[in-house]
Amino acid sequence: MSAAPSIAENGREVTFDVVVVGAGFAGLYMLHRLRGLGFSARVYEQGSDVGGTWYWNRYPGARCDVESMQYSYSFSEELQQDWDWSERYAPQPEILKYAQHVADRFGLRPDIVFDTRVERAEFDEGRGIWEVATSDGGTARAQFVVLATGCLSNARMPDITGLGEFAGQVYHTGHWPHEGVDFTGQRVGVIGTGSSAIQSVPVIAAQASHLFVFQRTSNFSIPARNSLLTEEERKAFRNNYPEIRRFAREDSRNGIYAEPPERGALEDGENARRAKYDQRWANGGLTFMLAYNNLLLDKAANDTAADFVREKIAEIVGDPETAKRLQPDNHPIGTKRICVDTDYYATFNRPDVTLVDIRSNGIEEILPNAVRAGGEDYQIDALVLATGFDAMTGSVAKIDIRGRGGKALNQKWAEGPKTYLGLMSEGFPNLFIVTGPGSPSVLSNMIVSIEQHVDWIAGCLSFMRRRALASIEASHEAEEQWVAHVNEVAQMTLYPQANSWYMGANIPGKPRIFMPYIGGVGVYRRICNDVAAKGYEGFTMRANQVEQVAATS
Ligand code: FAD
Ligand code: NAP
Repeated sequence: MSAAPSIAENGREVTFDVVVVGAGFAGLYMLHRLRGLGFSARVYEQGSDVGGTWYWNRYPGARCDVESMQYSYSFSEELQQDWDWSERYAPQPEILKYAQHVADRFGLRPDIVFDTRVERAEFDEGRGIWEVATSDGGTARAQFVVLATGCLSNARMPDITGLGEFAGQVYHTGHWPHEGVDFTGQRVGVIGTGSSAIQSVPVIAAQASHLFVFQRTSNFSIPARNSLLTEEERKAFRNNYPEIRRFAREDSRNGIYAEPPERGALEDGENARRAKYDQRWANGGLTFMLAYNNLLLDKAANDTAADFVREKIAEIVGDPETAKRLQPDNHPIGTKRICVDTDYYATFNRPDVTLVDIRSNGIEEILPNAVRAGGEDYQIDALVLATGFDAMTGSVAKIDIRGRGGKALNQKWAEGPKTYLGLMSEGFPNLFIVTGPGSPSVLSNMIVSIEQHVDWIAGCLSFMRRRALASIEASHEAEEQWVAHVNEVAQMTLYPQANSWYMGANIPGKPRIFMPYIGGVGVYRRICNDVAAKGYEGFTMRANQVEQVAATS
């Protein structure tokens, strides 16, 4: 491993210590750490700019659902003190601006190649390097590859008959046009009622002449209670950042600083419980699910929270039939990613908004000027697909990754992803994944998890350099044990009861495996730290391609 850059750039063949795929929050921080450690690195990004999620998801109403003062990097004290978030939940343009600011502030752009997809990565066992083929026809060689490809970056086009025949514009929320879309005077159809739809529906409704929302599964949503941040509020966070960030990293389950629940829902009487839910509802946001410590473990406890939200929907929505259709009844609350909204349910009180229940038969067909469902044609001018992503594995699967013996990662993962700690997969030496399946990832404030993974990978590469080690690979035994542990923990919860994207259930044919690790970010961090402290226990390290080294710290 060379400390000095080994760039031999001629536009076609280049060599680095590390190739990073993706320039979202994960890729940006990975690059920053690698440069700080003196590794040569190249980031390839298929988009034209940094930001990842916040570059692609420009739909109306897009914003974070973890409060911005927490959904932000913690690695630079100056950055977190300098940056002014405008709202409790910043809108997409502001989060994108933040990512751009980070790229500029830390001088990252010169090492990022935009508009370039990584198509293939093949491990050359003889030389112990990865050969990375890019969409511009180039090849990059690197000892290490880091997949910072994002868990929610592979937008899913639904397989609906006639979609290609629609005469108007079709938009996917995850690929929104940069110039924005003005729906004024148009009849619009939105397919889907997950977080992206729940954020965009109220905003599109305010523009459209009529909005039809096609709902297959109703979802639980908690009011965001978004507001402008005052300087006082920003100061309160900034002055307490050391403790807020420490708590989020070490003591929380989900990477969020919030009052932790002390008791189970059934330990409180009816009135006390209602008061607690009322208070969480009034406060708004994801922490509603932190009202009690057993909401995702005990169905009877979960029912109390689900009933509360169903009652709220009935209070908000004027038409009892519409309210009933909006009340989720086929999964425990929180087992599908809970949504956070501004005026979502109330939007259905508008005379120009229609909820179309497609639960029984789905959408039958899309015609050039209408959506046909339940035997009726809903005339529309524009169609919005808020149909989600091939989550966690989708963007990795799109790259043809070949490890030892030419084995394809897609083949290995055909029955579901297998990793050790969500970081590496056996048979694929020197290939790291950021927030991969088997890590807390999408169950957490993602920036907390991204920083933890990137720091761990950076620490691992430094360790290897100090000992002149050539390769690291997850051992078969450690991987099997970890996969079993991830499944075992998932089965202890209510999560597997829902057909969620966490389970791969939104993609026809995808194996039903609960992909993220539910153990919590604090517990998981301790496990990762412990593995590193024990000389990367469960990983095999080699000084060269034939010699195995007992790695000792
Ligand atoms: P991404 O931001 O997805 O970046 C990955 C990048 O890799 C993309 O730019 C992609 O183009 C690129 N890429 C992928 N494959 C290739 C390839 N083969 N070649 C080249 N480039 C490639 N999380 C939270 O914690 N809180 C939130 O409030 C929150 N809100 C969200 C809102 C939306 C609308 C969505 C979709 C997700 C949200 N998330 C949220 C999750 C969000 O994805 C993460 O918080 C975070 O932004 C992920 O960063 P990342 O760098 O890991 O991945
Ligand atoms: P999603 O949660 O997967 O929702 C997709 C929606 O489309 C679901 O309602 C789904 O119905 C529906 N759908 C899919 N295919 C369909 C078809 N063929 N016919 C009819 N309906 C179909 O996707 P998302 O809303 O984009 O959110 C994905 C994740 O991104 C979120 O869970 C969250 O983690 C993140 N996100 C966060 C925010 C935020 O608030 N900050 C905003 C957006 C996204 P079924 O449920 O029946 O499958």
